[in-house]
Amino acid sequence: MKLIRQLLPCLALCAGAAAAAPPKAAMSDWITPAERSQFRTTPSYADTHAYLERLAAAAPQTIRLTRFGVSPEGRDLMLVVAAKGGEFTPEAARASGKDIVLVQAGIHAGEIEGKDAALMLLRDLSVAGRHAKLLDHAILVWLPIFNVDGHENSTPYNRINQNGPDEMGFRATAQNLNLNRDYTKADAPEMRDWLAMFAAWQPDLFMDIHTTDGADYQYDLTWYMESWGPLHPAVKAWEDHAFKQSIFPAFDRMGHLQAPYLDLVDHRDITKGVGNFGSGPRFSTGYVALRNRAALLVETHMLKPYAVRVKATYDLVVAVLDYINAHPGELRKATAQADADTIAHANDRVEIPVAFKTTDQPITMTLKGYAFTQQKSDISGDTWVTYDPKTPRTYEIPFYRDLIATASVRLPAAYIVPPGWPEVVDKLAQHGIRFERLAEASSLDVERYRLTKPVWDAKPFEGRHVISEVAIAAEHAKVGIPAGSVLVPMDQPAANVVANLLEPAAPDSLLRWGFLDTVFEQKEYADARVAERLARDAIAKDPALKAEFDAKVAADPEFAKSPSARLAFFYERSPWFTTQQVGAYPVLRLDAAALGKLRPAR
Ligand SMILES: [Zn+2]
Repeated sequence: MKLIRQLLPCLALCAGAAAAAPPKAAMSDWITPAERSQFRTTPSYADTHAYLERLAAAAPQTIRLTRFGVSPEGRDLMLVVAAKGGEFTPEAARASGKDIVLVQAGIHAGEIEGKDAALMLLRDLSVAGRHAKLLDHAILVWLPIFNVDGHENSTPYNRINQNGPDEMGFRATAQNLNLNRDYTKADAPEMRDWLAMFAAWQPDLFMDIHTTDGADYQYDLTWYMESWGPLHPAVKAWEDHAFKQSIFPAFDRMGHLQAPYLDLVDHRDITKGVGNFGSGPRFSTGYVALRNRAALLVETHMLKPYAVRVKATYDLVVAVLDYINAHPGELRKATAQADADTIAHANDRVEIPVAFKTTDQPITMTLKGYAFTQQKSDISGDTWVTYDPKTPRTYEIPFYRDLIATASVRLPAAYIVPPGWPEVVDKLAQHGIRFERLAEASSLDVERYRLTKPVWDAKPFEGRHVISEVAIAAEHAKVGIPAGSVLVPMDQPAANVVANLLEPAAPDSLLRWGFLDTVFEQKEYADARVAERLARDAIAKDPALKAEFDAKVAADPEFAKSPSARLAFFYERSPWFTTQQVGAYPVLRLDAAALGKLRPAR
């Protein structure tokens, strides 16, 4: 109930309160479409664009409407910049030293609180003259609708679990891609535009606004921070301190209730506990963390009224800006430190985790939930859960909060991508990774991987057949590096992104997403009649080979009954096969000494 008082933001109040505000009559022109409908509806792309265009025209000193790309269906990807000192470009914003906060709405277009909060807060920061001090030390960059094509695919039926607005956009893009799984593979044109935008702005803090699915509970907003990956300790410390000590308590004082993101262990029984969903670089916040930046996933609760969810988003951004205003430069100092250390430690063979799992050691969490009943369902044959939101209940539940690494990699000083893999090079370019093309051929001591036992998922996921498992063996070798190869040095702020794209052990690497599937393919085969002769010649020269063959026939019935496998046994051990390099991962790893030979001048 305490929430209700907070529902209607500011219009009447703030227009009167601000000394520099336009006359009251004019303020009614700035009621947002969602406010006008009492938060029953959310505006179309065209109406959102029109409102922001009008706002930017009315407040050119504070608001600029820009675009960072175009969707496949031809809509501009809007970006609104709110700044006090005319810092409307990435260059000016970076140069100002102010903390840059990027808020993203509508990556899942049906979860659109962040757009309606954007219209209200951008208005309040400019023409309404409210909260104007919040831009003293921060530049606010707001992406009002990321998935613009999905946003226009609007119906009442896109989000069955959600309590309004009346109609809403669709989760996926016009290509049916989920942008929030696309951050490393960047198959969507929108994502490629986003990556360029992000590399230009390098925002210090990124907030991605969503709406939950799942259980019912008292919280109107849950959140997730990227605390488990290779995020720099200074940025982690800022996140921990700023959010947990100041921003979340301030948010609660504004009449809200927040908690960590609740990933239920068992949807039938919330008391069984919640886990850490683990994120990863395919997700927005997981990706941003790899770029040394603070990131917060925001999930408003789907069953709260739309007005409550929009207000929660609005108030959280206000609380964030309020903290930054009170601690100017603190965040920028942390992100700059992270970038500098990443560059300085490029030759230190730093080990980073690339895959995680939860431990079986939970902590105890106090959950502000509701009473619930479980009954046997004759429809599902399982348990049917009903929550009673009139009966708040507090539960002590296990929280499987901690993640441990299941795969780690030691960073090389540089990678080499041979010229035969232009798609890999294109991906690096799309991520804004710095690399250089080698004009001359050379010979170098490198570390390389031999990949075996790949397992592809049977069904496509996000348009690709993911490699879910692969065995990786590393070896050192002296190899020829062809002219035109691409050298990717790791003394750059995005080094952790590079490793997550190029290391086969990383679940979101280009190999796992299928960009290098051909490395597993055999292209030449021995005719059976030729292999027969090859086998007999080999046995004559090497009796031990025959013993090995006989042992395999005896031990492996599948092998024993396959004529082609029996002949392949000899072909695969001949020089005729080794030229094929099946499973040879083409991307090479250089240590500092090898890199020094390539770049003696540095
Ligand atoms: Zn979402």
